[in-house]
Amino acid sequence: MARTTLIAGNWKMNGRLEEAQALGRAVAVGSDAAFAAGVELLVCPPAVLIPPVAAALAGAPVKLGGQDCHAAASGAHTGDVAAEMLADAGCSYVIVGHSERRADHGEDDAVVRAKAEAAHRAGLSAIVCVGETRAERDAGRALEIISGQLAGSLPDGASAANTVVAYEPVWAIGTGLTATPADAQDVHAHIRAELRARFAGETAQAMRILYGGSMKPGNAAELLAQPDIDGGLIGGASLKAEEFLTIAGAAGA
Ligand code: PEP
Repeated sequence: MARTTLIAGNWKMNGRLEEAQALGRAVAVGSDAAFAAGVELLVCPPAVLIPPVAAALAGAPVKLGGQDCHAAASGAHTGDVAAEMLADAGCSYVIVGHSERRADHGEDDAVVRAKAEAAHRAGLSAIVCVGETRAERDAGRALEIISGQLAGSLPDGASAANTVVAYEPVWAIGTGLTATPADAQDVHAHIRAELRARFAGETAQAMRILYGGSMKPGNAAELLAQPDIDGGLIGGASLKAEEFLTIAGAAGA
């Protein structure tokens, strides 16, 4: 079954209003080529910048996502954003369980799972992030760690339509270090096998698994050519439209 390649930009806590609008416009201008090549483009700005970026994208084939959501639909959760609010703002995706959230906000697998369920409740696709630290990899525990994160973070109701898995080795995020295409493929194949063991074979076959961790124009083609790498979750390189679109071009090649 063919899986549509997803190239997703995680802008993190970067960009003031004008920069975010300019970045959105520049991605929009170059998005037709990616669309024509069958590549799905997604940008995830900081929550408060989603409406102006939505306006900047103005009808271009670029989807919008949040970087996080709360598990509840509303309530006394100062500073948080509900998945429903992201949907109202025009989002169709939300990232949950990014390693920076797991580290900075102590989010464990149960919290991530509840957030993914909230995304589904709101009609959003959840991009559920998993990945091992350097110490875990060096100890030969990478696959075991990822299996545990998948088991704990993916809701039972996950389907290819409402969930994307992102494999992001923590040691590769923002460091310029990247997993080799072969190492990344090994982990992606392991994730696919775990999905097959838990969900129907069809779901496992159709669910997209993104690679994230210093994906750049120079390494994207080789990573994206791997049979179980179905796209990228891109941090630093998504802040420059040209680099982001070049990666998308590598996906469509
Ligand atoms: C990320 O944080 O999701 C990420 C992959 O960042 P970078 O591309 O900068 O490593």
